[in-house]
Amino acid sequence: MKSKGSPFKIAVIITLVVVILLTVLVIMNKNQSKDEQEMSFGETPSIEGQPIIGDPDAPVTVVEFGDFKCPACKAWGETIFPQLVNDYVEAGKAKFSFINVLFHGEESKLASLASESVYKQSPSAYWEFNKALFDEQPSANHDSQWVTTEKIIEIASDINSIDIDKLKTSIENNSEINEVKKDTELVNKFDVQLTPTIMVNNIMIEDPFDYEEIKLAIDQALEEANL
Ligand code: CA
Repeated sequence: MKSKGSPFKIAVIITLVVVILLTVLVIMNKNQSKDEQEMSFGETPSIEGQPIIGDPDAPVTVVEFGDFKCPACKAWGETIFPQLVNDYVEAGKAKFSFINVLFHGEESKLASLASESVYKQSPSAYWEFNKALFDEQPSANHDSQWVTTEKIIEIASDINSIDIDKLKTSIENNSEINEVKKDTELVNKFDVQLTPTIMVNNIMIEDPFDYEEIKLAIDQALEEANL
């Protein structure tokens, strides 16, 4: 009798353990996918005083948290950004802004100080400078030092509306450090961990290279704006 009962009991216990483990796994998995989907914040990053492409009154705000030293940011600017501009910015549906992230140390900081300075003296030159700086990022060895004051002056010299002496003085005096700090506060506020990080209004896009995901978020935001 004993020898019959024991294997049965063991089988019941094993079955129970397996069921409990499976249940726990399913619950964990559900929570995980919930986390991945729920990338929404209570508010849209404020782009007051930030460089903007597009109609400032456009209903949707797209923000890139980017770093001039980051190869993925260069790639994003060359592949996804032109589509975004073509489909939404030029149509007046979305405006776009770039917030500096300093994940690569002193060079990120120097590039940010310089671009903030360019923006301050000539807002219309900012985006040309932003693109020219990314264009200079070497495709190999991007970790090697390439952002220098000399390089910045060289790039800026090709853009007509930039006053080079003003730019030099601004860089030497860290004049725009408060603008760079303001950007870092946004980076911290929205807990940006990777560059580029793209936000559509209050939604943080999970994969910045998934243009369909960006489009979906913008289309949803446009629908909400029309309600
Ligand atoms: Ca800024």
